[in-house]
This record gives sequence, structure tokens and C-alpha cells, in this order.
Amino acid sequence: DEVIRAQGLAKVYAEGRMHTPVFNGLDLTVSAGETVAIIGASGAGKSTLLHLLGGLDTPTAGEVFVTGHRMSGLTDGQRGLLRNRALGFVYQFHHLLPEFTALENVMMPVLLGGQEVAAAKERAQLLLESVGLGHRLEHKPGELSGGERQRAAVARALVNKPACVLGDEPTGNLDDKTAATVFELMLELNRAHHTSLVLVTHDRSLARKLDRVLELREGRLHELASSEV
Ligand code: ADP
Ligand code: ADP
Repeated sequence: DEVIRAQGLAKVYAEGRMHTPVFNGLDLTVSAGETVAIIGASGAGKSTLLHLLGGLDTPTAGEVFVTGHRMSGLTDGQRGLLRNRALGFVYQFHHLLPEFTALENVMMPVLLGGQEVAAAKERAQLLLESVGLGHRLEHKPGELSGGERQRAAVARALVNKPACVLGDEPTGNLDDKTAATVFELMLELNRAHHTSLVLVTHDRSLARKLDRVLELREGRLHELASSEV
């Protein structure tokens, strides 16, 4: 059961006469329930890869399949629906909407998926409770700590029960102790719900906690043995 498959991915950024290839012929398969860390030097292409996997950007060549659907074969609308249903996103900065409460922020993907307000509220509340924010439902992002905001962002990423969560340095803005807590939370949710995780991190001690560690180097993914991480 694969949730994500990338085949022969190439990405070239063209700026004027400059053509910068980020990768050329990259393959990646992520199975259901699997957790994958992507590491690599700054500029190696980690963010670009996540954007391609998440359908936020289109590859120059190659294909991405999300839960069996070929992204390039979908209309923008269909791709949007698939992203909302099958994928969750967590970024280094929480991207919560400042004028809405934690509860409203987490309800939003459910409402966008076409569900009723009452159902959205119930799911969002349950998930916020499961990330330890049951007492912060009515708080706005500005009234939450950094760790709480990131946990709310994790709740928002998981609220539609995605097959896979894509995280770009999801704990990169937190102190070590809070980062470890938020990372552990994502692993708990993975174990409880079989949600696959693909997390970009520069922190090898966190990367080591995942099933596989892949290093992006010279446009390819290299699987590291645990002794190398
Ligand atoms: P990482 O996340 O590993 O730091 P990125 O994916 O952000 O790497 O960037 C990979 C390479 O692509 C870098 O050389 C970067 O400068 C270049 N790049 C990224 N985004 C763009 C863009 N929108 N236009 C042109 N070049 C880009
Ligand atoms: P069911 O899987 O039986 O439909 P619920 O949707 O009622 O279960 O959720 C059960 C618990 O799991 C709740 O605490 C909810 O917040 C949490 N939960 C639901 N979906 C996810 C998910 N994709 N990832 C992590 N936790 C989730």
C-alpha cells in the first residue's frame, strides 16, 4: 500500500538564462504507515521535493502519485481536493490564521472538505484534545506558546485523517525540548492512526526516530543505515 510514489522526478528552476537543476531522476516510495526523514545540506532541494510531493509545484519531468492518483493527470480542482483529503502539511512556522481561534483554525480543513460545522467542530475539538490543547480551544495563535502553536498546526494537518503528513522542518522553530515533544506527538499520531510521515529535518537526533532516513545529495536520495545517521 503506497501513499506516495515519485518516479523519475526532475526539477529545473529557470531564471533568465540560468537553469538550475535541483534533481534529475529522483525516485521515492512511501508506504502506508511508514515514517521517513529527509535530511540534506541547505540548498540540496528538500523544500522543493516536498512541494512536488504535495502538489504545490509541478516537476519538470517525472510523476508523483498520491494514494494512487497521478497528480499531473488531475485538474487544479481535483488536485486541491486530493490534497485536502489525502495530505496534511506542517511547516516551520505554524501558518495558523491569527484572527481565528485554535478550534476554528483546526476546523477549517474539515469545512473546506465540505463537512457540516457541527461535525467539523467535533473532530477539531477531539484532535486538539489529543495533542494536549483541550484547554486552549478558544485561544488565538497569538495567545499560545510556540510549542502550543506548532501542536495546533499538527492537529490541523491531521484533522482530515490524511494518508500522509508532509512536514518541512516542522520543529525547526522550537527549542530542543519542545521540538522533541512535538516530534514525539507526530510519532504517536502515526502509531495510532497509521498516518505516514515525510519530515524534512536538519536534526539528526530527531531523524533517527523515524523508520527510514534519506539524505538528499546531488539530486538523489541516499538511504542511510542507522549507524550513519
Ligand atoms: P533546501 O530545502 O534543501 O534548502 P530548496 O529546495 O529550498 O533546498 O532549494 C534547492 C535549490 O533550488 C537551491 O539552489 C535554491 O536556490 C533553488 N531554488 C529554490 N526555489 C527556487 C525558485 N523558486 N526559483 C529559483 N531557484 C530556486
Ligand atoms: P475513528 O477513527 O473511529 O473515526 P475519531 O475520528 O473519532 O475515530 O477519532 C478518534 C481519536 O483520534 C480522536 O481523539 C481524534 O482526535 C483522533 N484522530 C482522528 N483522526 C486522526 C488522525 N488522522 N491523526 C491523528 N489523530 C486523529
